[in-house]
Formats: sequence, structure tokens, C-alpha cells
Amino acid sequence: MENVEEVQILPLKSASDGCENHVSSSDKPQQQQSSQAKPSSSKRLLALAFLLLLIAVITIVILLGLLASRSCDNGASESDGLQSRRSPKSLTRAVYLDESGKACQHQDIRLPKSLLPISYQLLVRPVLPSQGQKTSVNFGRVKMMLNCSRPTDAIIFHVGAGIRISDLTVTAAQRLDEVSRQRCPSLDLLYIRVSRQCTTGELLNVSLSFEREIEGDKLDGFYMAKYKDKNRALRYMASTHMEPVSARKAFPCFDEPEMKATFDLEVIRDWRYKSLFNMPLARTVPDTRCSHLTNQSGCHRDIFQTSVVMSTYLVAYAVLPMDYVSLQKVVKTSRGSIQVGIWAPSSSQNQLDFAMSVTEKVLPYFEDLFNLSYPLPKLDMIGVPQFAAGAMENWGLIIYRFSTLLYDPNYTTTIDKQTIAEVISHEIAHQWFGNIVTMKWWDELWLNEAFAVFTQYIGVDAFKPGWSMMDRCYVEFVASALQTDSLLHSHPIIVPGLSDPNEIESMFDDISYFKGSALIRMLDAVIGRRTLKRGLIIYLNRFAWRNAASSDLFAAFSEAYMLENGDSGPHANSPVRNLTRVMDTWTTQVNYPLVTVRIRGNKLHFRQERFLLVPNATSIWKSNQTSRFGFRWIVPIWYVTDRISEPRWVWMDLEEEKTIELDHQPKFVKINFNQTGLYRCSYEQSNWRELIRLSREGYFDSTDVAGLLNDAFTLAYINRLNISVPIELFETLQDDHLSSATPWSIAMHKISEIGPMIAGDQQAMTDLSKFIVKILNRPLRNILSKKEAELTHMERIKRQTLNQIAVMVDEPLVTNKLFKMYQQWRANTSFPLPPDEIELIYEIGVYKGNTSDWQFFKNRLNEIESYSEAKHVCSALAMSSDVDTNYRLIQSLLNLNSQEAFSIAAKLCRRSGLRELVWSYFERNWDIMMERYDMAFTLTEVTKFPAEFHTEYDYQRLSSFFANRDLQSGWRSAFQSLESVKANINWIAHNLDDFKSFIRQKASGL
Ligand SMILES: [Zn+2]
Repeated sequence: MENVEEVQILPLKSASDGCENHVSSSDKPQQQQSSQAKPSSSKRLLALAFLLLLIAVITIVILLGLLASRSCDNGASESDGLQSRRSPKSLTRAVYLDESGKACQHQDIRLPKSLLPISYQLLVRPVLPSQGQKTSVNFGRVKMMLNCSRPTDAIIFHVGAGIRISDLTVTAAQRLDEVSRQRCPSLDLLYIRVSRQCTTGELLNVSLSFEREIEGDKLDGFYMAKYKDKNRALRYMASTHMEPVSARKAFPCFDEPEMKATFDLEVIRDWRYKSLFNMPLARTVPDTRCSHLTNQSGCHRDIFQTSVVMSTYLVAYAVLPMDYVSLQKVVKTSRGSIQVGIWAPSSSQNQLDFAMSVTEKVLPYFEDLFNLSYPLPKLDMIGVPQFAAGAMENWGLIIYRFSTLLYDPNYTTTIDKQTIAEVISHEIAHQWFGNIVTMKWWDELWLNEAFAVFTQYIGVDAFKPGWSMMDRCYVEFVASALQTDSLLHSHPIIVPGLSDPNEIESMFDDISYFKGSALIRMLDAVIGRRTLKRGLIIYLNRFAWRNAASSDLFAAFSEAYMLENGDSGPHANSPVRNLTRVMDTWTTQVNYPLVTVRIRGNKLHFRQERFLLVPNATSIWKSNQTSRFGFRWIVPIWYVTDRISEPRWVWMDLEEEKTIELDHQPKFVKINFNQTGLYRCSYEQSNWRELIRLSREGYFDSTDVAGLLNDAFTLAYINRLNISVPIELFETLQDDHLSSATPWSIAMHKISEIGPMIAGDQQAMTDLSKFIVKILNRPLRNILSKKEAELTHMERIKRQTLNQIAVMVDEPLVTNKLFKMYQQWRANTSFPLPPDEIELIYEIGVYKGNTSDWQFFKNRLNEIESYSEAKHVCSALAMSSDVDTNYRLIQSLLNLNSQEAFSIAAKLCRRSGLRELVWSYFERNWDIMMERYDMAFTLTEVTKFPAEFHTEYDYQRLSSFFANRDLQSGWRSAFQSLESVKANINWIAHNLDDFKSFIRQKASGL
């Protein structure tokens, strides 16, 4: 599944408007950014600036912007302090109760392995709303064939909330009668005791009918969505989202990734719809069970081919109105051919080609890369109006948000176009990572997601080599991993002992996706791409159609390393010979190291320590976390000096300190060359000065400058470095040595973290704005002087980024030009606007305009057909500078569907003065939200909203609120928000005055 990353645009109205969140580069649940600027009333544009910057930064940095991170600890026991703040549900889960309040006979989240499913025969008959009827319901019947692997008289499987079952029968070769039945809602389990034990190898058939409402607000299981077609008529559809634990909400099943089986599906639908499944349609026959149809001759039954063996979370089906159209193509591969279909409403029929061009390149490429065939005869991809994640990799039927599938050349920005390619590549990579080889259990989700994230870049790199995708890794996921994993309340990549569905949901976070992929990137740098590919081929082919664990993967890499290098190789005597030992220190420990290097004569002295954003976090939260590695890591360190230009290696093998001797006395040292290591770096002040000088001369490339900026700002944030270092490093960007915008994205993200804390000081805001305008001057003019046709992909992204920063700081050249374009366009909407600037133009129009401009966009939302434009319009609607408009918008949040409500809220939260209002609204309506929406994925984002609060009052208020709520899957991110607030408080206490005076000094010299 793709998260994600990451988020920019907020939907405003209902599904039929086509508003939706902008999504990150992966299928991860939607991320909400929470940076903000706190503007004084007289400097509102600067506030806008920070907001827009945020959007820009988020767009560019994708998920980097999260101040909060999430997760709890596990490679370590929890402290009493943390435990006491965990959600009440978590605390009371010691005994699971059945519907009548008695203890469940099965108390484990895991199913017993005595009965294993072999096949499912599933029939569904969805009834979607039609004229005069608003409710919808799904009737179904399932027959499960089970293999008795060890004798038992208990049949235990998942039945999700809201499912009503009837006509349950159990059959076998010899008679079996049901003796008792118990339903346990807290574990979604049905427990049936039968009259005798099965015998090993005996086959059992469990058949039952079921019925469940098809809901619209809860975006999982089998759910309904609506949209407006090109004639503005309302259309209904229904589709699935099962991962991780929602297949049980669609139909009764053995809902664990390791319990793979085949699936046969039949869909009974009326003639006005069509249906899709993981597998191709075998045939359609007449049926007579469409009870809502007056003319039964319009009732059809679609019968699909039997699926391959797969996990329940990958099952997918959709019932679509005839308005849906598809672009079909037979994609040839070196091993055969695959029928590919890209599906969307007819109004978007001309926006499917880009997705097809990505797919027809990436699908055959991955097949060759992994030396393993794509095993299905077809691959369908459909865009749907409402989706909790960015996309979902269902085998043969990938489901996307519109924004991650449809490319509209008139409205899709360069960054969004790249995001579409990344998400498609990510989901196709999952057809191997996750679908063919699946993790054994959700505690190793990273095996699915981290590889999909890393290989999405390899796939897009193959699709468009000129996009320099591998250079974007640092800014798009490594920086996010470093941010999230700097909190005490982070968690190890592998979290053994997940014991609650909420804990499973909470695994879909930056750690599984981004820390995992950053770790693979580090491994790639250590063992080399050739060895990495060989290891992946071994792993995928060895465990095809089965499940695997992290240790299986590391063993495959070790084997590949030996096959490639024998006993020699570049690391013959290094820890790399035992990769499992190396990787264990990174996957089973929370956080990562800060590596400090000092020059002493001709020696380099290294020291590693656990890095925490709140240095005294363990005492504040009374943590008793422990680690079998003592919070030390096996760290590969790449370094260069003034006399060593080709990076050399040194390993810290769980040592706290290490000294090496060089053949020269270096003037400087730069470690973590190309930022491939998953750690932060610290130098002595004199060394930093030398690195600043070299950056000014253009000595380092974009990734290293981005890494230096990230580390310097972060160390200054925690008072380990003078603020002058990151600011002067940032100043080196004014010479425009670098073609990429990534250092800008990192620097502005870091500055935007500070924005909210100085926003009350108009002088400081003015100084900061003036300073940034000065740095921006030459790079901005250089990029704007280039002709459109001459710009590379990277330069387009740079232009988009610098434009956004320019608006943020009220740079007159850009803001005046964009506002003028807005006025011309308002006078005549056929005036062409450049896609990369439309969003800024719309936002400036609303911000500088009046309520009639806001109303204009609100009305426009009902007229436009492009989902890409709808995204920009929604973004603009959240930019009003009118107090009443914003207030009414906040008060109407609960009238929207969950995806829209939380997307808008996230955007409003980034605006000065509105964050408080939004959060107060959530606090007042918390219980209603929990009841109305399925908060699973959303909660982890909502609980991050307050991460930018920065007063002791805020901290106490949040602590109290979180302590008294059932936070479900949001409990980790709630604690991370608290930790971020504490970090902000610390920054104000130690750095605020120094920062202001240094910026004052810089600005007054202009
Ligand atoms: Zn994914």
C-alpha cells in the first residue's frame, strides 16, 4: 500500500466535487503536514508564505515535513510513564469479551493453525443506491474449504463488525454438527465448536450467508463512493480496501497474511454496472436475484477465473457504473504478454495515457529485474473517488485515488506527474514484494513496504532516466526517516508481539516505509547494486507463493554477497560478511546514531551515540527502554578529506568510539558521503566552517549539501550547534551552484519548523523574510530566465519550489506576476495558466482577494471536470483570509466525508491562528468522529495535527486530552506529537533569542 507520503492539497466538498488529498509518493496512508507559520496580522503574507512553503516543501519533500513522528518503542520495554498514557482500549485488552460479556474462548489476536484455508468460493450481490433509495447493502455467501492440519473441534475465523451471518453449515466426509457458537467483536472472531475433532488431513467445508451495509464514510472493507459524471449526474460505485485487517469486514475469512488460499468470485449486479476482480472475467450469465430490479432480465452474474494463491488482504473487487471506461493494451514482456487496463470515469478518459506509459515500461522491467514472471494474465488499475491510502496493490486490480493515477497535461504539475509515476511503480513493485512473497505477520510489514518504496525509484529511473530519481531518495524518504526516528516514541522497524488490530494499523508509518527503505538504500551502498539485485532474486524466487521473515531476506543478501565476492571483496574483513548481525542492529533497535568525528593530527576520532530530538526524553517520560545492543549500531562510515576525494570506509562495530590513522593531516573531514548512511553527523566548529566554505565554492553536490543542512539545523535545534552554522550554510545556496532544489526543500522545511515559534514577533518575521529573499535572488532569476522548452525535469521542480518559496516570503517579482496572472484569468478564464503555477495562482487569488473570489472557486468546483484542477481549487478554498469564511469552514468539517474533512483540517492547521480553532473543534467533536468514521488510518494523522504547538500550556492540555481518549491506532502518533511539542518548548527556551538576534544581524546588513 502506498502512503505516504505525503500531502498537500485539501479537499473541500463532497465526493462528487472530486476534491481529494494530494498524496505522497507511495501508497502509505495520507500524511498531513503540520508545519505552520504564525503570522501577525500585519505580516499575513509571510504567514501565507509559510503555509505555501509548507505545501511546497511537502510537495517536494513529500513526507519530510512531519514534525511529529509516531510510534512507540519496542526493542525495549516501555516505561511506566508511557504505559500510563496508552489508549484505554490497549490497557483493557487483557481479557477479550464476547457479545454477552463472557470471556472469549480464544484470547489471541492470532488464529490457531489447526485449520488452514485452501479455497474460498465467494458470491456477492451488492445493491447500490438508485433513485429514491439512498442505502446500500451487500448480500453474500461464502464457502471455505479448510485443511485440518492437526485435530481440533474448534473452527475459528474472522467475521468483521456489522456482518450478519446465517445458514452456517459445516460439512466433512463424516458428519459434523455444530455444538456451540461464540462471537467476539473485540477480536472480530467467530468461534464454532463442532461435535468431534477433525482428523489430520481431513477437508472441511464451512458455508454461510452474510449481509452487511455498504458504508460510505468508512473507507475499508467493501465500501461505496459517489462522484459526478461529465453530465454532473451523481454516480455510485463500490470497491474494496482490505489491508491490513478489513477483508473480514467484506466477507468472513481467515484474515491473516500467512493463510493464503485461492479465491473464486461471482458478482450479481444489474445491467447498469460492470464488475472487476483480481482475475479476468470468465463469463457472464443471466440471474434472477436482483431483487431491486423490476425487470429481472437486467440481472447478470459475472463469474471470474480462479485466483492464484494469495493473502486475504490482497483480494479486491469493484462494481462500477457503465460510465467507467478503460484504456486497454497488451503489454509484451520478455516472458509473455499481460493485458493491462487503466480505468476511470469517462470524464477523465483522456488522462489515462501517462499511467499506461509508466506501466508498460515498469511492469516488464521489474519482471526482468526480479527474474520472476508476473503471474496473472491481466493487470487492471482503477481510480476511485474515495480512498484511504494513496493506492493499494491488490493483485491484478490496483486501486488508486484519482490524483495518483490521472495525468491532465493542463493541470497536473511536474511534481504531481512524478508522484503518479512513483505510486504506479510502487504498486507494481508490490506485485512481487508482498503479493508473490508476503511477510509472515504484520510486525515485519517493512518487508513489503520498504522494498516497494526503494524499488519505486528504481522503476521510475528505468522509465525516465533523465529524472535523476535516485538523487531524490535522500530528500523524499531518508530525511523523513531521520525526522520520525529521532523521537523516543518511535519504534523499531520490526515490532514483535503486535497484539491488537490498532497496533497493526499503526505500523503503516514512516518507520516501516521510510526508515526501512533508507536502510535498504544504505545496504545498497554497502554491498553494491549488483549484489543487491542478486539477493533480491534469490529471496523472491526462494519464497515465491509463500511467506518470509527478515532473517530470510538477510540470509539471501549474505548468500548473494558471497556469490559475488567470495572471500575477498571490498569488505573482506568487515562486519558485512555477516549481514544478519549488521542489520539486526538497525531493525530491532529504535532510533539511530549521531556520529561525531574529530580531527586530531593525522587521526580521525569517531564516536557514536543514540540521537534523540528531546535529549532528556528518557528522563522526562521515565523510560526504561533497553536494547540488547545498548543503543549502539554497526555503522558503515564513508568519509572524504581534502586529500581523499574518493570516499573511504570505516566500520564502527558496536563500538562507542573508534580512532583511525591517515597518511596526512586533514584540513577537514566530511563523513556519510552522499548521505547513504542512516545516521546524523556532527563536527567540530572549525570543521563546520570549512564545510561551509567548500559548499560556497560548489564542492559538494545537492545530496551532500541537503544532508549538511539537515544535520546542522537539527543539531542547532537541540542546542548542540550554534545557529550561525546552518544559517550560513543555507546562505551558500545564494550562489546557485546546484541544479537540484533538494537543499532548498530541506532548508526551508527546517526554517518552517521555526516559523510558528517566532510568528508573534513581527520584526523577526520581517528579518527572516528579507534574509530569505536575499538568498533566493540569484537562483530565482537564473531559473526564471530559462525558456520553458529548455528546462529539464529537475529544473522544473526547482522552479516550482523556488516559486513557492518566493510567494512565501512575498518576493515581489514572483508574487506580483502570479497575482497579475490571476486577475487576467479571472477576467477571462480561457487565459492559459502554466500547470506548475496554477495552484499558487489560485491560492494567491483567494488570499489577496475577497469573499467573492472564494465563492467563485466554490462554485467552480461544481463545474470543472478535471480532478487535477479540483485539487488546486480545493487548495485555494482553504486559503481565505476572511475570518468568518474560515470559521464556517471549520464548523462544517463534520458535514464532509472523512477523507475531505481531515484533509481540509490538515491544511487549515498549517495556517496561523487556525490551528488552534481546528484542534479545539476536533476535541469537542472527538467522540462523534470516532463513531462516524472508520478512523483507522486517519487517526495516526489526526493525532499529529497539534505537533506544532509550543507552549507548556499546550503540552499539558494535549497530555490531558490524550490520556482520556481511546486513541486506537493514533496512540503512537499522539505521543510523538507530545514529544514534538516538548522539543519546541526546549527550542524556545534555549534558542529563540539567539535565532532572532542572528537573523536581525543578517537582515540589517542587507
Ligand atoms: Zn506500499
